[in-house]
Amino acid sequence: MQQLAIKLKKKGRTVGFVPTMGALHTGHISLLKKCRRENDIVILSIFVNPKQFEPQEDLAAYPRRASQDILLAKKENVDIIFHPSVNQMYPSRYLSYIEVEKISDILCGKFRPTHFRGVATVVGKLLNIVQPDTLYLGQKDAQQCAVLQQMIRDLNFPVKVKILPTVREKDGLAMSSRNQYLTAQARVEATVLYKSLLHARDRILEGEQNPLRIVNGIRTMIMENSSGKIDYVDCINAETLESLNNIHGKVLIALAVWFGKARLIDNIVLTVKRRLPTLNKA
Ligand code: AMP
Repeated sequence: MQQLAIKLKKKGRTVGFVPTMGALHTGHISLLKKCRRENDIVILSIFVNPKQFEPQEDLAAYPRRASQDILLAKKENVDIIFHPSVNQMYPSRYLSYIEVEKISDILCGKFRPTHFRGVATVVGKLLNIVQPDTLYLGQKDAQQCAVLQQMIRDLNFPVKVKILPTVREKDGLAMSSRNQYLTAQARVEATVLYKSLLHARDRILEGEQNPLRIVNGIRTMIMENSSGKIDYVDCINAETLESLNNIHGKVLIALAVWFGKARLIDNIVLTVKRRLPTLNKA
C-alpha cells in the first residue's frame, strides 16, 4: 500500500483517505462521496483496530462485513480498499504508540483509558502508509477529531483534515455500526439522545448560560425517558475541550450513554455569540 501511495504521489494524483472499522453505513458513505468529489484517488481503509478496544469491550462482537463493504465501496467508486490483517498492522514485538495527552483523558477517555492511544496509533500508522493529501473524518466522533487534529499538528503529519457532519436516521439517532446491538425497545428509547441535545440547544439560544444547568437538563431528560445508563454528558469549549464557566463561543455538547450492550455517543456544536458586558466609565 505504501509503495502504491508513493507511486500515485509521483504521478501528481491527489489522494483522499477515509479510515473506518468497516460495517459501512450511510455516515461512512457520506465521507466517501465527499472524498470522491474532491480527489483523484479515493482510499478507504477497513480495519477493526484491537488497540482501541479496552479488554472488556466488544472487539470480538464488533460487526465485520468485508464482502458487503467491498460492494458498497465499489458503488461509491472507491479506487483502493486497504484491508490489512491485525498481524500486518501489529506484528509480534510491536512496541510503538502515539499518545495525545490531556484531551485523550476526558469525556470518552475517562471511561476508555487506552482508547485514544489506540486510535492515534492506528491513524498515525495509516497516514504513514497511505500518505493522503486529505483525511476525512466524521463529527460524530468529536473527541476523536480533536485528538487526531492535535496529533497531526503536533507531529507534523503533512495532511489536511476535513470534518463532515453527523449523518442521522430519520428520527435523529446518529448512525453507528453499534446501533445494531440495540434491542427494538432500546432503538426507540435511544432517540432521546439527539432530542436532549436539541432541547439543550434551544435553551442556550433562549439565553441559558450555565453549562451545569444544560448538562443536568440533558441528564434528566435521558433518565426520565429511557433506560439508558449515562457515562457522561458535558458542555465544553469545542476547540480546546476545556470546561466552561459560562456558555459562549464555539461550544460542544457531548454525551455517551449505554443502552444494554450498546454504548452510544452523540454531540452537537453551536456557536454562541454574546455581547460582553461593557465597562461603565462613568
Ligand atoms: P468507524 O468505522 O466507526 O471508526 O468510523 C469511521 C469514520 O466514519 C470516522 O471518521 C467516523 O467519525 C465516521 N462516522 C461514523 N459514523 C458517522 C456518522 N453517523 N456520520 C458521519 N460520520 C460518521
